Amino acid sequence: MQIFKFGGASIKTPDALDNIQKIVMNQNDLVIVVSAIDKTTNKLESLVDSYVNDDNNTYNIFNQIKDFHLSFAKIALGKNYSNIQNPILTIFDSLKKIIINKSPYTYDKLYDEIVSHGELLSSLILSEFLSTKGIINQLIDIRFHIITDSNNRDAKILWDKSKDNIKNVFLKNQIYVTQGFIGRDQYGVNTTLGREGSDYTASALAYILNAKSVTIWKNVPGIMNADPAWCSFAEKIDYLSFREAIELAFYGAKIIHPKTIKPLENKEIPLYVKPFLNPDKKGTEIKKLDYKLKLMPIYILKENQILLSVSPRDFSFIVEENISKLFGLFSKYKMKVNITQNSAISFSASLDGNNRNFDKLIEDLNVEYFVKYNTDLELITIRYYNDDSIRKMTMHRHVLVSQKSRTTARFVLS
Ligand code: ASP
Ligand code: MG
Repeated sequence: MQIFKFGGASIKTPDALDNIQKIVMNQNDLVIVVSAIDKTTNKLESLVDSYVNDDNNTYNIFNQIKDFHLSFAKIALGKNYSNIQNPILTIFDSLKKIIINKSPYTYDKLYDEIVSHGELLSSLILSEFLSTKGIINQLIDIRFHIITDSNNRDAKILWDKSKDNIKNVFLKNQIYVTQGFIGRDQYGVNTTLGREGSDYTASALAYILNAKSVTIWKNVPGIMNADPAWCSFAEKIDYLSFREAIELAFYGAKIIHPKTIKPLENKEIPLYVKPFLNPDKKGTEIKKLDYKLKLMPIYILKENQILLSVSPRDFSFIVEENISKLFGLFSKYKMKVNITQNSAISFSASLDGNNRNFDKLIEDLNVEYFVKYNTDLELITIRYYNDDSIRKMTMHRHVLVSQKSRTTARFVLS
């Protein structure tokens, strides 16, 4: 059995579905994991925010998402659209019910309730599309099978609770279409695995089903040594070890969701990242390697960073309780901490700037600490750095933090 994952960009337009058809046409033992169409997840996020802020735009956004999906499905399916018209409308009715009512949920629960509709729609449309092209497949609602903890927006898969369900539903020598990114907790509440989490779904299914391989289909030639949208000199990397891929994902390489690799490494299931538009090209292969690869410098950019610096008001040392207090607050507010540095009485950290809890964090910190922060910074990581690569990245820039280990150099820059 193989697992193929198609991201939002691979199902951007109705035409793109023809490509998926070509890619899966000759398969007969396959699970297809799909993300929401194009930027639907972002739109659903703005629906959540509009609803929470009560800003009068909620129905506009809802209607935009609905119109987009209805016309997408009509174009993709032609006369067969009528086969799924009712199921699509049912999904939108469920979404509407949430936004009509006053929600009893916390923000994170509400987010997952709303945002999970994107994958329900894309998988329904893709499954019907493949059926109309003669590719017999079964649509599976993964929420009944991937059981997670209740940590909404970043839920962990409960392997023991998911394993048997999944083995019983995905059988050999069939084609299945299912949703990435979404699951349910033990109480039946919808959860999501974190943004870009469909990769993680694909790898979890591969692990449980002992798949032969996972292929992530992308709109780039494979894993590159830098984001091509950012660096003109980006080149494809042909091979990576599981270990190296985990490191890269950890530092923020956007190509694979960080939790994806570990389950595959544990069972030595190879992961291919391949170009959606050139399926015969080799892409990148991630597998167990017994030797150390000689890799070119790899550049990872994280934008929208906040460099936070705190020092205790009572001038106690930063070590010990202060460190654990600070990390307690970061975890309370779900702040992603990317790099830290401390002296005797001060501590700084580069944090992802897109967290709506930031103001609350600052309020809490102000009680015991002097707090300063700079916003809108970049964090650049270079694996396998050399002088030239560092020069390229830091030239004419103001470096606020610089850290080097034997293999990795990291800079916070304005
Ligand atoms: N649709 C979700 C997102 O955009 C999950 C994914 O794409 O993997 O984050
Ligand atoms: Mg997506």
